[in-house]
Amino acid sequence: MKEIQKLFPSMDGNNLQREELLSYLKTILTKIDELKDPNKLTLGEMPDYTEDYYNRVIQKAAVPQTGVSMEEVIQELLKLVEGHRYVNRNYVANAAPLPNIASIIGNLVMVLVNGNNLWDVEGPAAATAEIEISSMLSKLIGYDESISAGYTTWGGQGAVFNSLRLAIARYAPSSNQRGVPKNLYCFCSELSHYSLYKSVEATGIGVENMIRVKVNTDHSMNLEDLREKMEHVIAKGGVPLYVLATMGTTDTFGIDDLEGIKGIAEELERTFGIHPIYIHADSAMGGMYTFFNDYDFESNPLRLDDNVMVVLKSYQEKFKHIKLADSMVFDFHKLGQTPYITSLFLIKNRENLQYVDLDAAETPYVGNRGYGSYHTGYTLECSRMGSALAIYASLLAFGIEGYQELLANYIRVNLAFRETLTKEISNVVVTNEVSPITTFRFYPEKTKWNDERNGLLTVEEITEINQFNDEFAEILGAERDTVFFGNTKKQCLVDAANTNKRISIYAHKFFTISPYSTIEEVDRYVGFLKEHLEFFMKTRSSNNIGVRS
Ligand SMILES: *Cc1c(COP(=O)(O)O)cnc(C)c1O
Repeated sequence: MKEIQKLFPSMDGNNLQREELLSYLKTILTKIDELKDPNKLTLGEMPDYTEDYYNRVIQKAAVPQTGVSMEEVIQELLKLVEGHRYVNRNYVANAAPLPNIASIIGNLVMVLVNGNNLWDVEGPAAATAEIEISSMLSKLIGYDESISAGYTTWGGQGAVFNSLRLAIARYAPSSNQRGVPKNLYCFCSELSHYSLYKSVEATGIGVENMIRVKVNTDHSMNLEDLREKMEHVIAKGGVPLYVLATMGTTDTFGIDDLEGIKGIAEELERTFGIHPIYIHADSAMGGMYTFFNDYDFESNPLRLDDNVMVVLKSYQEKFKHIKLADSMVFDFHKLGQTPYITSLFLIKNRENLQYVDLDAAETPYVGNRGYGSYHTGYTLECSRMGSALAIYASLLAFGIEGYQELLANYIRVNLAFRETLTKEISNVVVTNEVSPITTFRFYPEKTKWNDERNGLLTVEEITEINQFNDEFAEILGAERDTVFFGNTKKQCLVDAANTNKRISIYAHKFFTISPYSTIEEVDRYVGFLKEHLEFFMKTRSSNNIGVRS
């Protein structure tokens, strides 16, 4: 057993074993640092992803008969890191965080004491941290912290699922025994994340009962369409159960009007005498901007530029209403720069948890003892990681102002990018409002965005432009080691002149997530696009000539 014990941290806190662990950490940090290159996206060389790459991995894999040395373990791990994408200034594709140092340390503490967030007796650090961040963030968004509740869960998608489960159980408390009623309906914008799609599948509500609401040109939910569709459901004898209000759509950062949605829900409840309609704010993408809810734009303590302030002020107007939602989410592993998974699901009224909590008789192992007073029997997970520790550490290290600086920079860089892009390239349009994300679309000749979004082009014309952008995305993707742009095949939906179907618009995405993506980098980003676009247009036209001849 002595050899096996060596694989563990010490029991008595002796120097020798601590130094050993530290030396491993130092090796890993040093080796990863050696692979960093600010001009590339990847750590070292990318492996050759041949077609049989994963097949070869499968064939080679086997548990070693006897354990290998720790040095070898580290070597093998570092092999996996080779070629890994690393979020630096060249990464402008998606909301992928570069975990900040405080969150890395918080994660390490979580692992070292390895508490189980299921029960405070088994994980006191995580329990206290979870309660503390739930209160901190409740205060920030305007929930009453003495009646709200929160727990970390499996992502923004988990928050959607958890909220839908709460909505079902609140409407039909007997559903846990008898199953979900048949006539429940959910509403979301046509640009909402597929989290709800999965959740209506998994809860048994069914995708046919998920009603998609049209969006306005700013990518927020169209409230007239919402009202009409809800009234239609009521008229048919259905129950409008749940509205997903997206606060920051994944690709375009559209922000739904929560106050308006709440108003419609309450009006329908009064008019038709129906049960309260549950509203979940899907703030996985945008929730961090609640950090500006109390920012004083008059005195402007951070000395933000006017154009940045205009955007943030409009966010404040929208995000201050998030407190009207029955629940919301903070996805710190998106704009909050912490490791996966660090998502806090916040519930306005903790009494709703009673509908989904386990009966004490069903939890014979934990929770129902005289000791311990925090037992999360209402979560879908049993054992839970203490990811509140990483969030807690970040909140302390950044403070409100630190996060404001970080979040304002996303806006600042995007404003500059838009300006430079449209100045330098003529056949491009920016297709969303100013936000941490810029979506843009190229045209083979001159831009036709206005006609396109007003339904004046035919399916064939739109498809051809989509194709053009798709091909260009392939070219950009092949060079992603230099600058990695994102893209989407459903930036939004538009009407076409010759069909009733709404057609998806393809677009490229510029998503500045790294703290190293600053305003000084903007010329490089646009230069990269311009250079590759010229190359693409040239090869494309010579190919076309080739086909004709
Ligand atoms: C990313 C995202 C989700 C899913 O969040 P995960 O943390 O990846 O599970 C849900 N909704 C929106 C709007 C998102 O942007």
